[in-house]
Amino acid sequence: MALFDSFGRKINYLRLSVTDRCNLRCIYCMPAEGVRKLRHQDILSYEELLLLAETAVGIGIEKIRVTGGEPLVRNGILDFLGDLSKIPQLRQIVLTTNGMLLPEMVEGLKKAGVQRLNISLDSLRPETFARITRCGDLGRVLAGIRKAEEVGVPIKLNMVVMRGMNDDEVMDFAGLTLFKPYTVRFIEYMPAVKDSNWRSLVVPGEEIIRRIESAYRVQPLDREDYLSGPSRNYRIYGAVGAIGIITPISSHFCNECNRIRVTSSGMARGCLFDNREYDLKMVVRTGGRIALEEALREIVARKPGKSCISGETSAREPLYMSKIGG
Ligand code: SAM
Ligand code: SF4
Repeated sequence: MALFDSFGRKINYLRLSVTDRCNLRCIYCMPAEGVRKLRHQDILSYEELLLLAETAVGIGIEKIRVTGGEPLVRNGILDFLGDLSKIPQLRQIVLTTNGMLLPEMVEGLKKAGVQRLNISLDSLRPETFARITRCGDLGRVLAGIRKAEEVGVPIKLNMVVMRGMNDDEVMDFAGLTLFKPYTVRFIEYMPAVKDSNWRSLVVPGEEIIRRIESAYRVQPLDREDYLSGPSRNYRIYGAVGAIGIITPISSHFCNECNRIRVTSSGMARGCLFDNREYDLKMVVRTGGRIALEEALREIVARKPGKSCISGETSAREPLYMSKIGG
């Protein structure tokens, strides 16, 4: 069964946040003091998340990305992922993580059926990494990446590029793909935490690829498959890995958008930049499967055609990515 929105886009991808909590405090994602934690009763239980996932798959979702906050800090996450991977017709389960808990958890993730890891890594320099994450330990993340490679889980590295902060490392990250089988994805910084100066931090995707092309011969690649996200992909000639450029600011990818998002408290969004949220929690808790199916169809039907991130308006409302899941 296929699910289409009112603009004829096929919607087959659900980003499911399982927690608002995190063991880091990245400067582009949350304030130093963190964000106010949701109450335990406001967070969907694993049974509720599973019902939501099963219902979404029943109407056409084929790929689920588990995200957060930091998904690996929620107790019982491995069992939940194992249950998720038993849903018939769910073609892909992937997980986004900051990597801090990977050394001890990556084997369990593989056993639970996670098919790929997106690991956020914004710097290969310990001081810069610590400045961006405020409390991260680069050594642990790198150890987690090595372990994931050993265990055989495919890896994408997500680097949020910020001018004057870590953009001088673009070439180092691109160079990693020469001998590592990762896809390194360069993501334009988005104005998440309220920041009136946000535009000065954005390094446009075009500039990133031009810089890489100034040192390497680069070939464009086709999209990976119909479940893949909005990344423009490239390979340096002879490289083992690939490069992806994600441009939410300089070039919207709205007409290819195939996703909906649900937060750990059951708030659903048709678009990251559309502040209208639909409360699925009560539907999950009291409405049963048919009502949930109808609610999900409604969210898809009301998905905006175009992102409303533009000019300075986007800086008006802080977007807490740790709640929405990125
Ligand atoms: N904690 C996990 C992690 O960091 O990978 C998962 C949640 S995090 C909110 C998901 C993704 O959103 C990360 O790759 C992060 O880099 C990205 N993200 C968060 N804030 C962002 C921002 N302001 N601009 C661009 N990407 C952002
Ligand atoms: Fe935590 Fe991920 Fe946000 Fe960093 S980007 S603070 S790791 S949720």
